[in-house]
Amino acid sequence: MMKRTDKAAAALLTFGVMLCLAACSGKTENQPIESIEPAVTDSTAPVTLDTETTALSTTTEPAAPPDISVNMLAVGDNLVQTYVYKAAQAKATNGEEYNFMPLYENVAPIVQAADVAVINQETIICGDGFEISGSNLNFCSPPVLADTMIDVGFDIFTIANNHMLDRGIEGLEASINFWDDMMRKRPVLALGAYRGPNDQETIRVQDIKGMRIAYLSYAEMLNGYYIPAYSEICVGMTKEEDLIERQIKRAKEVADAVVVATHWGDEDTHVVRADVRELAQKIINWGADVIIGTHSHTAETMEYLTREDGTQGFVFYSLGNFISAQTDNFNVVGEMANFNIVKNGETGAVTVEDIGVMPVITHYEDSFSNLRLYPYNLYTPELADSHALPYTHAPRETAKDFGMDVINAIVDANIPKEYQWLE
Ligand SMILES: [Zn+2]
Repeated sequence: MMKRTDKAAAALLTFGVMLCLAACSGKTENQPIESIEPAVTDSTAPVTLDTETTALSTTTEPAAPPDISVNMLAVGDNLVQTYVYKAAQAKATNGEEYNFMPLYENVAPIVQAADVAVINQETIICGDGFEISGSNLNFCSPPVLADTMIDVGFDIFTIANNHMLDRGIEGLEASINFWDDMMRKRPVLALGAYRGPNDQETIRVQDIKGMRIAYLSYAEMLNGYYIPAYSEICVGMTKEEDLIERQIKRAKEVADAVVVATHWGDEDTHVVRADVRELAQKIINWGADVIIGTHSHTAETMEYLTREDGTQGFVFYSLGNFISAQTDNFNVVGEMANFNIVKNGETGAVTVEDIGVMPVITHYEDSFSNLRLYPYNLYTPELADSHALPYTHAPRETAKDFGMDVINAIVDANIPKEYQWLE
């Protein structure tokens, strides 16, 4: 596993590649293989061989480039409701307004251990000057949240979701500015809202460990809000299948692997809608390698999908919530999906391997005190007993029972046995 400093250095590569892609069109197929060591940041540098390999190469046929494997972790909705940021306020010291890190620190080692970590920032972050709110349809999260999520270990932020217009077009434009500013300061990539059609057609590519990974991000709906005609801002919608097909095919030309984030499906159910399954198959057929689904606020199932030529991609229909202050039991058990994206050195073929899904639990006690995340392997029956669920002060809801047995039932019903990563 890479250390955090290595990971940051690797991620720094990203930015140069993105600039290059923005400035030049066309495939970069003649580019030499980059060093697997992220510390070698010159993209034109030849392969760095160790002594042993160099000696070997003088006596044998030139070997095929080695396979490359990038370990990725993906989580679902970072749903910063009022009681989530109030928990961060309760942890603030030294005059700071919020301290989100204690809410996430139990899962940070898992996030940081991956080469790349992807998150859906469900509640929009507009930057300074916007009133903070954790109320549905009016979300706006504190700017410091973004820094904390990066400190926790996230590199890729998808922002195409139903809350991106919660503060109107002004809020979305401010959020694009906020993330652009963040991308200049820190080695991360945020995507899903674009300044105009040209910006939308610029495929975002990360260069990591010698693999080029393209990211795309689409939303199914915008809570009934819409982008006014006078605005150039673009958001990719899941119903725009022509756009998705074109962008995946373009992404596959400029990158080795394609990861598609889709914010889709129905909330508060584990049932995957038939049209979601159909679109997933199309997205894989068009060439995507991994689909990271979110929006249901519930853990949903996952599977390999096979293309006509027999090759496969993988879909996580919905990873559910990362953090939230929701009050149904199915809302507080989400998924942290870990997998390897492997590029065959000889053929260039990409496969998704070694899938393991660690459940993640949002824990809180009475009055939403001590709200924080736990990975399944750190959660205990004692903690489950102290969870505020069943939360009697909440409006009457349908699924309040709670305990390790409830968590295990949710896990067993929605994470296929072969993908469960529980310890
Ligand atoms: Zn959503």
